[in-house]
Amino acid sequence: MSHLELDVSKANFITWFKNTAIHKFDTSNGMVYLAVPNAFVRDWLQNKYHSSILRALRENLESVRCVEYVIHKGSPMVFQEQREVSVNQQMELSELYVDKEDNLNPKYTFENFIVGSFNELAYAAAQAVIKNPGISYNPLFIYGGTGLGKTHLIQSIGNSFKKIDRNKKIHYLSAERFTTECVDAIRNNKAHLFKEKYRRFDVLIMDDIQFLSGKEKTQEEVFHLFNTLYDNNKQIIFSSDKAPKQILGIEERLKSRFEGGMIADISSPEYESRLAILNAKLKILNYLVPEEILEYVASVIQNNIRELEGVLNLIMIHGQLKKRDLVINEVKQLIKNNVKPQKTISINDVIKIIANFYNIDERELYQKTRKKEVVKPRQIVMYILREDFNTSYPYIGHKLGGRDHTTVIHAYEKIKSDLTRDNLLSQEMDQIKTLLYGNV
Ligand code: ADP
Ligand code: MG
Repeated sequence: MSHLELDVSKANFITWFKNTAIHKFDTSNGMVYLAVPNAFVRDWLQNKYHSSILRALRENLESVRCVEYVIHKGSPMVFQEQREVSVNQQMELSELYVDKEDNLNPKYTFENFIVGSFNELAYAAAQAVIKNPGISYNPLFIYGGTGLGKTHLIQSIGNSFKKIDRNKKIHYLSAERFTTECVDAIRNNKAHLFKEKYRRFDVLIMDDIQFLSGKEKTQEEVFHLFNTLYDNNKQIIFSSDKAPKQILGIEERLKSRFEGGMIADISSPEYESRLAILNAKLKILNYLVPEEILEYVASVIQNNIRELEGVLNLIMIHGQLKKRDLVINEVKQLIKNNVKPQKTISINDVIKIIANFYNIDERELYQKTRKKEVVKPRQIVMYILREDFNTSYPYIGHKLGGRDHTTVIHAYEKIKSDLTRDNLLSQEMDQIKTLLYGNV
């Protein structure tokens, strides 16, 4: 649980989390099983910390959906043998509190931010802002896909300012949170207090502003707030998953403000940077993974730094469980079981490949026929579209011969349960997945 960052005091953290470990992560449903030593701890975690745990896990691995607590007799299974490592990690963890004043998380700093060609422009712009706040690059607008380091970068700017000048009033928040506060303030006739609160900051950092799309009232507040801060040479920093021009549902006048300063994108890291990121993370965690394995991970996990971290965590957790280094095939298996396949193949490809595999005419999968040799492949198609592509039941039904969504649910459940007892089916599934996703 070395990455868990929770709203608990250090003493509490050590009491409740010291014998806790991630036991298993099931990607099919995003379920994380946390091993706990006894029912008492389980109930405590469940009642008091459940949402913090879930949130922290999600920060590491986006695909996490829910957490279940399992009691492990004779645990702590993972960390007991490695008490020193785990305690250190926990200590480190417990220091990672989000500052209630400025909302900054101290774990995001430039010291642990790797710079490569994928993010060097954004990094350079950030450094320029730190040198000359409120002047040259105002606002700073950072955009890029999910898990590429936007939050890390913009929070690092905040933390740098904080280090330089403790009296500087810095504030970080997501556009979503701003929206909620704004709506609440208006509803409770507290708009003036809300306006005042944000106008007194020297540096305002607003994350994920694509969230403002379609929220007209909030956009208006952001617009006026922006003008006030800007006129007073206060630095404003935004992040978004798209360039300003590409965000739909944002007023033109606000877009032009977003574009009025410095815009920098973060793209996907290239292989060398991915490897450097893995190495840097391991150094921080004080953990060794054979070079061959790191190279493998860096070569297959291509477009998301959060996912790189997630895989590294899995390798550590499983290495600690097995009390030895994993071999490359085990890592391949881990990735195969835990990382959602990247969507380079289309739904039609899935159908084509499965039809080929079972030697049937692809068109039959789309038709209503109930021929036995077609029913099973069709159910497998449904299962894979649901499981790996997160496609909705109604859409799958629509795609495959206009079937009702309940039929799809039934097919999904059937294959899922058959897989647990039908060896042949499970071998076929492996072969199909290899055909679909290659030999990972
Ligand atoms: P985004 O906000 O773009 O979705 P995050 O900033 O949350 O992405 O980054 C995802 C994870 O990857 C975080 O744990 C972050 O610390 C890490 N990360 C991102 N960029 C870097 C980097 N350049 N160097 C080291 N770690 C990084
Ligand atoms: Mg983010």
